[in-house]
Amino acid sequence: MDKKPFVSAEKLREIAQQYPTPFYLYDEKGILENADRVKRAFSWNPGFREYFAVKATPNPYIVKMLTDGFGFGTDCSSLTELMLSKAIGVPGDHIMFSSNDTPAEEFAYAAKLGATINLDDFTHIQFLEDTIGYIPETICCRFNPGGLFKVSNDIMDNPGDSKYGMTEEQLFEAFRILKGKGAKNFGIHAFLASNTVTDDYYPMLAEILFKLAVRLEKETGADIKFINLSGGVGIPYRPDQTPNDIFKIGEGVHQVFNKVLMPEGMGDIAIYTEMGRYMLGPYGALVTKAIHEKHIYKEYIGVDACAVNLIRPAMYGAYHHITVMGKEDAPCDHKYDVTGSLCENNDKFAIDRMLPKIDMGDLLFIHDAGAHGFSMGYNYNGKLRSSELLLCRDGSVKMIRRAETPRDYFATFDYTHIFDGVLEELGY
Ligand SMILES: *Cc1c(COP(=O)(O)O)cnc(C)c1O
Repeated sequence: MDKKPFVSAEKLREIAQQYPTPFYLYDEKGILENADRVKRAFSWNPGFREYFAVKATPNPYIVKMLTDGFGFGTDCSSLTELMLSKAIGVPGDHIMFSSNDTPAEEFAYAAKLGATINLDDFTHIQFLEDTIGYIPETICCRFNPGGLFKVSNDIMDNPGDSKYGMTEEQLFEAFRILKGKGAKNFGIHAFLASNTVTDDYYPMLAEILFKLAVRLEKETGADIKFINLSGGVGIPYRPDQTPNDIFKIGEGVHQVFNKVLMPEGMGDIAIYTEMGRYMLGPYGALVTKAIHEKHIYKEYIGVDACAVNLIRPAMYGAYHHITVMGKEDAPCDHKYDVTGSLCENNDKFAIDRMLPKIDMGDLLFIHDAGAHGFSMGYNYNGKLRSSELLLCRDGSVKMIRRAETPRDYFATFDYTHIFDGVLEELGY
């Protein structure tokens, strides 16, 4: 199945005439339709809530589409993500604070907002109490079962090697201690595999957590109110991958719920999710222009974006599909490395990729950059972050974040004035 951009070549050319490349473009229609599917897929559970993982796409316009539009919450793990949630009006009980290695001031702010604190470690019980002076009535603990996590013999991930969560023994002890310190409403959370492109991940994780919940209630007397399946639901970055079916995933969790929790009289437990990638990944693209071609031992196309705008290919060797706009139906008979301008040889959006012949000025649509794309940006080589644009349902385009300028780049020096001359000379 070929991947189709959510915008036509003609429309994108029009947008690029008004807003200089590179930029991120998000598809409002796609975001809203997907969020609606997520909501319906879990509607069998009256307490269901998706807490959107802010780190995936920390743009207030986008987060607000999900929180205001669907009653979703936010999943935060830093001070600024909490601040963003507060600023756009997310109520405390709609904020999940799933942090790790947490600074004291962040626990304090999360508690002040009334966010649900998800403790990553056993020692954080004492740390939290020392920091805020009490244990909140609603509290969650993150579980790490260790070992390898497999779905039908395929190794999905390696929890035993991951820094997150508590061992089973610690979790039981944590619940006893928290209960003794006044906690009343308990939750459990686990994130065991990332970017899973299978409908089985959530149901398998749910089965582990539901069975654990039954034992935890029996053995500690803690009242478990919610189970947080966290993130990890993936998207098909490659055109040959089969997309997840969120309705099958929701129904799979439902069946395990009926099998494990209902017979125990635990049918009032709420299911929470903290999806980031699945909520936004396919509905954002990095749009960049071809500005150089280079013919040495290989064929290179140089574009005006680089790894600071989208680091996933450089960092993980991740595949991002590329459409050369206006050449959707042309034969892919040229083999290119598509590169950015960093002085880093891994600054490549594609390696040995078969694409149509690229001409200078062509617009390249780099797919599936809507989550963990812009937000993983950085400033190496003094490169600047791009703008973010929203393609609205009515076809209009709204700039939802302007591009960084050199003035932003120099702004944190305390002798900023020495840059005034060069900035003014270039019109910044
Ligand atoms: C990153 C993260 C998420 C979101 O993960 P996705 O793979 O984007 O769905 C959810 N919860 C926690 C605690 C995370 O760290």
